[in-house]
Amino acid sequence: MTVNNPKIEAPVLHLIGEEADRLGLECYVIGGWVRDLFLHRPSDDIDVVVVAPQPPEGGENSGIGITLADAVAKRLGKGAHLAVFKTYGTAQVKHKGMELEFVGARRESYRRDSRNPIVEDGTLEEDQNRRDFTINAMAICLNKHSYGELLDPFDGIGDLERCIIKTPLDPDITFSDDPLRMMRAIRFATQLGFNLDGETFDAIARNKERIGIITKERIAEELNKIMLSRRPSEGWILLDKTGLLPLIFPELAALKGVEVKEGRGHKDVFYHTLKVLDNVAEGDSGLWLRWAALLHDIGKPRSKAWDPQAGWTFRNHNYIGAKMVPKIFARLKLPLNEKMEYVRKMVDLHMRPINLIEDTVTDSAVRRLLFEAGDDIDDLMLLCDADITSRNEQKVERYHRNYQLVRQKMVELEERDRIRNFQPPVNGDEIMAMFHLEPCSLVGELKAAVKDAILDGVIPNERDAAIQYINELWQKKQK
Ligand code: ATP
Ligand code: MG
Repeated sequence: MTVNNPKIEAPVLHLIGEEADRLGLECYVIGGWVRDLFLHRPSDDIDVVVVAPQPPEGGENSGIGITLADAVAKRLGKGAHLAVFKTYGTAQVKHKGMELEFVGARRESYRRDSRNPIVEDGTLEEDQNRRDFTINAMAICLNKHSYGELLDPFDGIGDLERCIIKTPLDPDITFSDDPLRMMRAIRFATQLGFNLDGETFDAIARNKERIGIITKERIAEELNKIMLSRRPSEGWILLDKTGLLPLIFPELAALKGVEVKEGRGHKDVFYHTLKVLDNVAEGDSGLWLRWAALLHDIGKPRSKAWDPQAGWTFRNHNYIGAKMVPKIFARLKLPLNEKMEYVRKMVDLHMRPINLIEDTVTDSAVRRLLFEAGDDIDDLMLLCDADITSRNEQKVERYHRNYQLVRQKMVELEERDRIRNFQPPVNGDEIMAMFHLEPCSLVGELKAAVKDAILDGVIPNERDAAIQYINELWQKKQK
């Protein structure tokens, strides 16, 4: 079959084919770019696999990827940047926002203890055999004699139409060889809205323990891609159903299930969490608000208690959860920087707005939340809105309306007091100068007292008022 799609007519692809013809090489664009071409997804990463037409006995492809890349970079001229990775026999050409990756066709064999294969030169067919999924194994010829011809030995096109993720060869071997493919299978299913083929699914369940040889960093990369999908819940549900979830993220698996006592149950926190996650994902939110949604109730299993009057309680689950965040981030190899701090803060504060809906709420409580959330207050309110997952529509509407009122209160206070990025109007150095103090705990005490007085509305957020207030405090202390 010849591919009929304007993208395949891109001048740069013709140019690659022409250079290959000139050098007496065969070349094919392969993998993700071909898949995305048929799915009409944008893709700027182009993988090109290169084959010597009649390799000598024992085959000699290594280096020919680099040879072609070099020729292509020269033809493209000034705007092109060539990077050669000799040890891997690969080369990359960057040109106008595109990344062209060149490699000789290869065959792979695996050892049990590593996902890094022994690589040998191979034919195009052998190169396609080593690919992870049928939809990722399609190749399109770039040589003039069959430009645009699709080579699709495993009916990847059919699987694209059926929306199926399936391994080209025996899935037990594919996953055991490189267990990262189990994560990739679930990630592609989530990103593309596809299903796992039955055999492929079963093989993941059978080989799940093999995930242990994969580095945490690689797993995190796949998890982040799942998180950035349109409906991230699908990925987490597949991780759960295949049995991978407790192996890679036991705290999340612990949210599953409902306990019933004296006829009273509680929500299944796992499915509630996934609904919250999908809710924030719908709003086009960034990666870290999505992580905050996933982790917002992570402390619930540890705080769960039975109270004969109140039923199931989860007291302080936000606080317990916030304390778990740095440990979870460290173990999953997520960044331990301000992103983690943001997620920790979101988890910590996610129960606060609900306490602000009463009419009797003081300005001071609202001010304190504004102060603690700072510029992340809008994200916090998005999370709280997403956290409303009741099936009772009237309840849902009432809760949303309540949060609307809380937002209103915040806007009014913010206009009046500018608390969001609040910096105390008098700093420690000034306090020391005022009373000729050396650095000591009293300075901190005075500073904290000013902050509290402003947040509690005792004094306005102004410098003169703050200085007067400190003077009064000081005098009291001297008595
Ligand atoms: P994306 O770039 O969106 O993650 P992709 O399919 O391009 O998707 P890459 O990781 O860029 O994925 O890999 C390019 C191609 O290399 C894949 O399409 C697949 O054919 C092959 N591939 C990548 N990783 C593996 C693997 N672990 N096992 C087998 N084949 C793989
Ligand atoms: Mg890619």
